Amino acid sequence: MSSPADLTLAEAAAALRAGALSARELLQATLDRALLTEAELHAFLTIDHERARAAADAADEVLARGETTGPLHGIPVAVKDNMVTAGVETTAGSQILAGYIPPYDATAVTALKRAGAVIVGKTNLDEFAMGSSTENSGYGPSANPWDTGRVPGGSSGGSAAAVAAGSAMIALGSDTGGSIRQPAALCGVVGMKPTYGLVSRYGLIAFASSLDQIGPISRTVEDAVTTLEVIAGHDPLDATSYRGEYPQYRSSLERGVAGLRVGVVTELAGEGISPDVLSACRSVVDSLAEAGATISEVSLPSMEYALSAYYLIAPAECSANLARFDGVRYGLRVEGATVEEMTARTRAAGFGPEVTRRILLGTYALSAGYYDAFYGQAQKVRTLVIQDFTKAYEGVDVLVSPTSPMTAFELGSRTEDPLSMYLVDVCTIPSNLAGAPSISVPVALDVASLPIGFQIMAPALGEEVLFRVAAEVERASGWNDRRPPLVEADHGV
Ligand code: GLN
Repeated sequence: MSSPADLTLAEAAAALRAGALSARELLQATLDRALLTEAELHAFLTIDHERARAAADAADEVLARGETTGPLHGIPVAVKDNMVTAGVETTAGSQILAGYIPPYDATAVTALKRAGAVIVGKTNLDEFAMGSSTENSGYGPSANPWDTGRVPGGSSGGSAAAVAAGSAMIALGSDTGGSIRQPAALCGVVGMKPTYGLVSRYGLIAFASSLDQIGPISRTVEDAVTTLEVIAGHDPLDATSYRGEYPQYRSSLERGVAGLRVGVVTELAGEGISPDVLSACRSVVDSLAEAGATISEVSLPSMEYALSAYYLIAPAECSANLARFDGVRYGLRVEGATVEEMTARTRAAGFGPEVTRRILLGTYALSAGYYDAFYGQAQKVRTLVIQDFTKAYEGVDVLVSPTSPMTAFELGSRTEDPLSMYLVDVCTIPSNLAGAPSISVPVALDVASLPIGFQIMAPALGEEVLFRVAAEVERASGWNDRRPPLVEADHGV
């Protein structure tokens, strides 16, 4: 008998409804798992025992009446700590927000609660979601459950590690340049970035507003669908929220890929990608062909410049967004003789080195005299990326690539070299620039027994076809909700 913490959302929801498991038991198994793993993983910044227990008990009362509140009824969920939660400290991984208790919930968090979720806590991240390893957290790094000497990826590293370890059944992450998909790939779980605008950004602490998007991290594609259906929806509080229809995605899961056209991105299938990752992705593509998809190679010439464009656009937007942390309204304040001095001291003390670097880069890129050369040029590249995608999707339904060029790297191995850290995002960034949906599905282990993620990209609002292919990849890979060694010992509990 394995622990209830190892059930998928779909299995747990069925067990709860059947009365085979109570929300309180499920929560306890999840908290026990956190107790067992947190000393090594540090996936959470806050575990909210009291509120979680109250929510689980409330969920059990509803179940006792034979009812459920929604698809996440009684399900333990973790939330990345850059989404505000009423009454629960929210730091975005930054010392500048230490002690900040928001007065309201992010719209995505409200949606979770409405669907019956039990929020276990807030997960660790790179400060303000800037990074690819969770090592930029102002509260110490998280580790990877597959090898605790390695990074879980980032910036939603805490969310991915928690889901992989079973200290949350699903989690919310945010993805500006890959921060859901890359940690999901490195931790052997599913991570999905929806179309820009599908999930409200209200209450998501802004990093780069034209790129940021909230999405699910889960153990299966089906669980990603369930979670996305809960959090997606129009929100008048977010001016960029999508106003059209929000379809159900569940029927995509069984439809298969027969007749679909799959394009392998040439620029993301060679140089710079580790041989293990490449060969795992090649065999996934072969199995898609066996399942009836037509495979072709598609060249997207602008991919070469996407990374550089992102590292101008994202810092530029962050330099504006982070201006609000002035020591007056939120969190930390370091006193000074004048307001200017107080603000300067607060920001110097509160922001870590990577965030400071991004603010400086972004301010420079936007400054008079350099605006056209840097920011303006980057926006033109963004348009080229969008045009390349549009052209590619005239001939194929989805595009595929590895999610990350490498599997989990060792803690500390890239922290001294920001450029090598930026390169980690080369496969994920294009979808953010295009505002398009993309998902990472775990498919295999490399020679060192570390998970490899396969990325599927679709045109904006192409979630249905995205999930069709993702479900097939999951079936074909035989990954079968594999668990990391760290928690194998707990399977007898
Ligand atoms: N790693 C990328 C960065 O550092 C992406 C981060 C993200 O998606 N939030 O900007």
